[in-house]
Amino acid sequence: SSGMAEASEHVIAQLLEKGHEAYWVGGCIRDELLGRPVHDMDITTSALPEEVISIFPRCVPTGLQHGTVTVLQAGFGFEVTTYRTESGYVDYRRPEHVFFVSDVNEDLRRRDFTINAICCGIDGLLIDPFGGAVDLEHQVIRCVGDAEERFAEDALRMLRCVRFASGLDFSVTKNTWRGLLRQRDKLVHIAVERVRAELERIVEGPHPRRGLGMLLRSGLLPRGKAPFPWTGIDLAAAAALSAGIGELQSARLRWALLLHALKQSAQEADVLLRAWTFPGTTRNGVVLVLRVREAWTAALEVVPPGSVGGTEALRRHWIAAVLAYGREAAEGWLTLLAALPAAPEGHSAAAREWMKQMPLSSLTALAVTGNELVETLQKTPGPWLGIILQQLLQAVAVGDIPNDKQLLLQEAKRMDGHEQL
Ligand code: ATP
Ligand code: MG
Repeated sequence: SSGMAEASEHVIAQLLEKGHEAYWVGGCIRDELLGRPVHDMDITTSALPEEVISIFPRCVPTGLQHGTVTVLQAGFGFEVTTYRTESGYVDYRRPEHVFFVSDVNEDLRRRDFTINAICCGIDGLLIDPFGGAVDLEHQVIRCVGDAEERFAEDALRMLRCVRFASGLDFSVTKNTWRGLLRQRDKLVHIAVERVRAELERIVEGPHPRRGLGMLLRSGLLPRGKAPFPWTGIDLAAAAALSAGIGELQSARLRWALLLHALKQSAQEADVLLRAWTFPGTTRNGVVLVLRVREAWTAALEVVPPGSVGGTEALRRHWIAAVLAYGREAAEGWLTLLAALPAAPEGHSAAAREWMKQMPLSSLTALAVTGNELVETLQKTPGPWLGIILQQLLQAVAVGDIPNDKQLLLQEAKRMDGHEQL
């Protein structure tokens, strides 16, 4: 936004006024040159962190050991980082130690890709020693310096390479791709949550299919061991099944589709998503969709379509699944079904219609409460109550009885008389 641009310009101007150098750098310049929305504006400066802190009283020392101070200005936060180089890469991870330097070109040299190694002054002039602007124009991802070395220094860059290539729909230069292939085994050294964060950006980005194809060709993931226990063959098959992934709007459904394509049960998916350190809400959302899938496929097996009374039985199974796992997950599964190649359209259209006709889908909408049942049946509350409530819910949801208090109480009495509750 222009508010953010103005505020960050003010930060740069203050640094210049105190005799330091300062530039916008990295993603914001890349996105600006591409005409894409800029979401945050990072600043690189010759000023040391303590100098930055002394100039801007309102700041947060977010990454002092890496020279980063977040300066608060007009309601925005800007990461202001001192020019630095890195060295002493250990275990293919980013280094613990950094060295502050005085030349902006040195700072640009430590950055991953040419398109991320451009900075821009307040005068609008670019500093672009590695030809990043031309690479943006040609739509290529190219490492700064020797690709193999840069990937060996920090293995996460290989996934960033795939993420930028797929997100921007760029290609990767020959040398950079060759370097990646040579270093791909080093990705094991990266913490799983950082790998997951990049995978999320690939899967949830604008060209997930392209990204997955690149992942497949890169050999970055099929290490055949936890938490990525697949062979290249599994992944190739999964890629075919998940070809429609880009049509799915929700992240949750994209992951559900992938796990479905990888032939994971709901239970297995739960274990994997945990191992990948997904937050619980995402994990549960995905797993519920896969549980609906299991209920649906089980019902299709029990009730072969075309058998006598088959359609009605399928409808009842489906409604039970909607009640068990929720409308959102059920809708999710139907959306996912439609994204699968050769989806059995007839039944999913019917299932959608059946769901639409459900008069209710949760206990809160039932016209009778647990208390009312306790009073009417004159029994002490116990497990029987939950069972009767669920049976009433199911009966109303499938349309066997209307959602009417008197009728429901009457039905409850009948159930109570008939069954060992
Ligand atoms: P976006 O924020 O849109 O993902 P970005 O380019 O801002 O893109 P960040 O991860 O925020 O990406 O990093 C900011 C800048 O820091 C990058 O543009 C790049 O210059 C540099 N950078 C980030 N990660 C690395 C890395 N692993 N190795 C080298 N340079 C990096
Ligand atoms: Mg950024």
